[in-house]
Amino acid sequence: MTVLPRPTILSIEPYVGGESKIPGVNRIIKLSSNEGAFGPPPSAIEAITRAAREAHRYPDGGATALREALGRRWGLDPARIVCGNGSDELIAHLCLAYGGEGTEIIMSAYGFMMYDIAGRYAGSRVLKVAEKDGFADIDAMLAAVGPRTRLVFIANPNNPTGALLPESEMKRLRAGLRDDILLVLDSAYAEYVTAPGYDAGAAIVDAAGNTIMLRTFSKIFGLGGMRVGWGYAPAGIVDTLNRVRGPFNVAAASQAAAVAALGEEGWVEKCVAHNTEWRAKVSAAITAAGHKVQPSETNFILVDFGTADGAKAADARLKAKGLIVRGMTGYGLPQALRITIGNAEECQLVIDAFA
Ligand SMILES: *Cc1c(COP(=O)(O)O)cnc(C)c1O
Repeated sequence: MTVLPRPTILSIEPYVGGESKIPGVNRIIKLSSNEGAFGPPPSAIEAITRAAREAHRYPDGGATALREALGRRWGLDPARIVCGNGSDELIAHLCLAYGGEGTEIIMSAYGFMMYDIAGRYAGSRVLKVAEKDGFADIDAMLAAVGPRTRLVFIANPNNPTGALLPESEMKRLRAGLRDDILLVLDSAYAEYVTAPGYDAGAAIVDAAGNTIMLRTFSKIFGLGGMRVGWGYAPAGIVDTLNRVRGPFNVAAASQAAAVAALGEEGWVEKCVAHNTEWRAKVSAAITAAGHKVQPSETNFILVDFGTADGAKAADARLKAKGLIVRGMTGYGLPQALRITIGNAEECQLVIDAFA
């Protein structure tokens, strides 16, 4: 007899990350995982190298220096910050701690896949609410709330659509939810947003409670490989996460890298300026080639090729040039490809490929 996990576990499709290899192609350009265009900040590389000599030491389980640096950088109380092994870890703990058998979790149809995976892992029923014109439909999400609802996940801006909803919609979502429902505002792409009036979620956390803002070092800070995410929440939610997370969940080198990245002078400004400029150029070139590009406030764009065959053919043409982008079949968008904004040379290769 073999040991089997709980039946719900076998209903989970394993997360498939962006591809990184093309058979027979030597030089590949990976634009499939929304990793920062410029790699890690130089000071983070130095910090990782320095940390190597202390690799025998356990990390600071409380990530004190990192929480303090985050607090200074974003004007937040470090006591209400909790760090994770990527924000993915925090997503899973939130589902396990607040969801579970007999509960429901709400997300939008094209929300981030980890909410579905973590929600099912916890044993919750995950409801995917239809979107409207490429955006999460706040009214429909509120209408989906039932007595068993315990968590609502929303990424703003969203991955994989890149769509940004106004702050007023996030407030309306929180205001429309019962107090015993945890709202998870996933702001993984917050630093890239240039739309006026955007707040990554801290204001809603402070005003309304029962809300957590999630952030990550994996995107603009170029540290996806180091696995550092964080949440800002009321004390009770931080306390919950501190009880259940691994005591040493964020590696020492990762904490050091994140602190250094926050201190890298001008990094965010440089990345945002580059991203805004090249996202517009790449979008214009793909639009000129006759494809639909959804407006994005992130470091990627979602391109609609009309049909699954159209997307597949475009993917094959890009692959032949060494360009790896992200197929969206797993997200229920087989007609679309998601393309990360890389460095200038990489973006130019995408533009040339569509010309
Ligand atoms: C990339 C991403 C994350 C995961 O970030 P990690 O910190 O690397 O785990 C979370 N949410 C969204 C919407 C993302 O796109």
